[in-house]
Amino acid sequence: MLPPADYHMHTPLCRHATGEPVDYARRALAVGLSEIGFSDHSPMLRDNFDNWRMRYDQLDEYVEKVRLAQKEFPQLTIRLALEVDFLPGQEGWIRQLAARHPWDYFIGSVHYVSESWDIDNPAKLSEWKKRDAFEVWQLYFERLALAAESNLFEIIGHADLPKKFGIRPARDCRPLYEKFLDAVARTGCAIELNTAGLRKECREIYPSRELLEIAFRKNVPISFGSDAHAPEEVGLSFAEAIQLARVVGYNSSRRFEQRKSFLNEL
Ligand SMILES: [Zn+2]
Ligand SMILES: [Zn+2]
Repeated sequence: MLPPADYHMHTPLCRHATGEPVDYARRALAVGLSEIGFSDHSPMLRDNFDNWRMRYDQLDEYVEKVRLAQKEFPQLTIRLALEVDFLPGQEGWIRQLAARHPWDYFIGSVHYVSESWDIDNPAKLSEWKKRDAFEVWQLYFERLALAAESNLFEIIGHADLPKKFGIRPARDCRPLYEKFLDAVARTGCAIELNTAGLRKECREIYPSRELLEIAFRKNVPISFGSDAHAPEEVGLSFAEAIQLARVVGYNSSRRFEQRKSFLNEL
């Protein structure tokens, strides 16, 4: 049985990761993975939108870096992908990005609940104090449902990202998860088990067991990602993530090639 692919890793082009794709690939082989995928933060329509992603004119360089890793490690399957920020109204831009290269998959992520607030940005932690946590979660999950419904993505990234800093609403969030996952189930995309949450203040995989149980009930497929921003994070905590998936009932995950989905036994 093959270990699941690690489909979420970054490169220094996003300005907050270290190590070249070849270093991530070397690490992947060392920890026993047979498939990985690079999904660095995609460029935005405006290059000055924020400071934590590649510029549009670096997209070709990004693809070259991934191709170089593929050439150097032919024994490892290396997919070419992007983690794309979903902002309502940017669908045309995302389609434009999709047409630029033969991508294997797109991860659709919501970091921004408005044009100016990326909720996972530690530099903007004070924004949380100005708002009611439940309202932020509500806004976030509404956007995430729109991302799923856009049909632009194979995978929805770190589904309950708002828990990152450990700030949680007092109210029951299950109705938000239900609505979001209904949207996911309608479109057939997967959600990722992202182990980076274990390394953040929330100390928990994205998504929570509670959310994942609802996903399983609705037949939503899964993929796995370490969200590595350094080579030593490749495949990190995968045993824990696989365990969580199995406990909830999953016996398979998804692989992607040329934007087509394949089953991988767990
Ligand atoms: Zn990042
Ligand atoms: Zn992300």
